[in-house]
Amino acid sequence: MVVSESNQVVAPPIQRGGFFSNLATGLKSLLKGMGITFHYFSRPSTVVTQQYPENRATLKMFDRYRMRLSLPHDENGFHKCTACTICEQACPNSSIRIVSRKGAVTNKTELDRFIWRMDSCTFCNACVVACPFSCLKMSGDFECSVYDKSLLVFNLTRYAGPTSTVLMKVTDPQERAKMWEPRDVYSGPVPLRGTAVPGGGRTLGAPEPVKASAPVAAPTPAPATAPAASATALAVEEEGGKK
Ligand code: SF4
Ligand code: SF4
Repeated sequence: MVVSESNQVVAPPIQRGGFFSNLATGLKSLLKGMGITFHYFSRPSTVVTQQYPENRATLKMFDRYRMRLSLPHDENGFHKCTACTICEQACPNSSIRIVSRKGAVTNKTELDRFIWRMDSCTFCNACVVACPFSCLKMSGDFECSVYDKSLLVFNLTRYAGPTSTVLMKVTDPQERAKMWEPRDVYSGPVPLRGTAVPGGGRTLGAPEPVKASAPVAAPTPAPATAPAASATALAVEEEGGKK
C-alpha cells in the first residue's frame, strides 16, 4: 500500500521489466507448467480429476466427497432419528428443519419430517458430526442438478414415527404398523418444493422449542411389514435425486 502526500491510498506502480527479462519470466513459467503436465502424464495414478460424464455409470467418488445429506433407513425401513433437533441447531445456515409430532401410540416426541434444503446447504458436515445417534451421513451422489430449484428441498424420512429401536421392540407387525405413517420426499403438511420452510432463517442462538406437528392424518390400513409404502417414496426420492 502506498500513501500519497495528500494522505490518499494509491496503487503501487507496476514494475515492468525489459524485453529479455519478460521473455525469461515467460519461459520459466511455461516450463514449470509443462513440468506439471509431464508429471501427471507419466504418473496417471496421481491424477485427481475424474473423467466425466461418459463413465457416469461406473464413476465412484472419493470417500470424503460430500454431496447429498441422507437419513439412512435400516433393512426394515426404519431410522434412528429421535427428532432431538441438535442437527438443526448445529446447521450454520438453517438448511435443516425438524418437524416432530407426539406419537399416537407412544405419546412421545418422534420425527414427522426431516426437511433438508440442498439449495442452501454448504456441505460442511456439521450436522453429521453433531448428531449424537449417528443418524446422518453425506453420500457421494454427485448428479443432483435440477432445472427447478424448488426440487432441492427434500424430506429425508420415509415415515413419521418413532425410531427403529422403539419400533422393533413391538413384535406384533399389526401393532407396529399403527405406530408409523408413510411420508414421501416432496409433499406434506409443511410447504416443501422451495417455498419457505417454517422457522427457516430463525435467529441463531435462539432455538425454537420442538413443535408438535400438523394434525396427523387418519390412520392408514396397517401394512403387515415395515414401510412398504416407502417404495413409492423411494422411487420418487431416487427420481428427485437424479434430476
Ligand atoms: S452440511 Fe452443513 S450446511 Fe448442510 S445441512 Fe449439514 S450443517 Fe447445514
Ligand atoms: S438426525 Fe440426529 S441430531 Fe438430527 S434430529 Fe435426528 S437424532 Fe437429532
